[in-house]
Amino acid sequence: MTVSLNTLRTAGRTVLDLVYPPCCVLCRVRVSHDRLVICDDCASGLISIDAPYCERCGHPLDNPVASCAACKGRTFYFDGALSGFQFNRPLQDLIHQLKYRNRPGIGRFLGSLLAKRVEGEPEIPHITAVVPVPLHPLRIRERGYNQSVYIARGISDETGIPVLENVLVRNRNTPTQTSLSPDARMANVEGVFEVGRVEAVRDATVSLVDDIFTTGATINSCARALLKAGAERVFALTVARA
Ligand SMILES: [Zn+2]
Ligand SMILES: [Zn+2]
Repeated sequence: MTVSLNTLRTAGRTVLDLVYPPCCVLCRVRVSHDRLVICDDCASGLISIDAPYCERCGHPLDNPVASCAACKGRTFYFDGALSGFQFNRPLQDLIHQLKYRNRPGIGRFLGSLLAKRVEGEPEIPHITAVVPVPLHPLRIRERGYNQSVYIARGISDETGIPVLENVLVRNRNTPTQTSLSPDARMANVEGVFEVGRVEAVRDATVSLVDDIFTTGATINSCARALLKAGAERVFALTVARA
């Protein structure tokens, strides 16, 4: 009798599910499907950011405008930024677990949610590759992985858009940005990113991928490096907006 690899995998997973039944990572209630990270109840707490938003930075607004108060006077190198969800409690918990509790699968799950949320947006069909915002190698060693890579893979799972890993590199570790003003954040990350393989992005329309859009300083510095390397247009997709 021949047993296919898939049958073995399914059998193995069934045994694993009996020993460690898959649970919602937020409320620990059992979930039936092994790729599901959170239960329907917790998922209903995620609030999507819907139009209208600022055409430059994606900030949610009451009325559509070309440039909002938050980005007035700032130079952006990206052509548009979209965020999937408000940074409320369930999403804060998920992103915390993704970054500090060794749960890369949450990144993939959030990436696929984000892709479903933005699939009708006019920029999406033009994007030929997604580029995760890089972490410094020291930070990767601490965390074990770059969470943005997993978010990008989740986007790719849904859309088929390839992920360009290790194209953009972070050449300096920077202090945490949380206490800094928008201008100080911009100075903090200036010149931090470099494109290692210029031919991979030349003339391409790419989208940067990150977990949270706060002031856009990191995304902006990455976008600048990509344009300098010859990318034609750069967008940004983030799971949340703080
Ligand atoms: Zn739950
Ligand atoms: Zn704006």
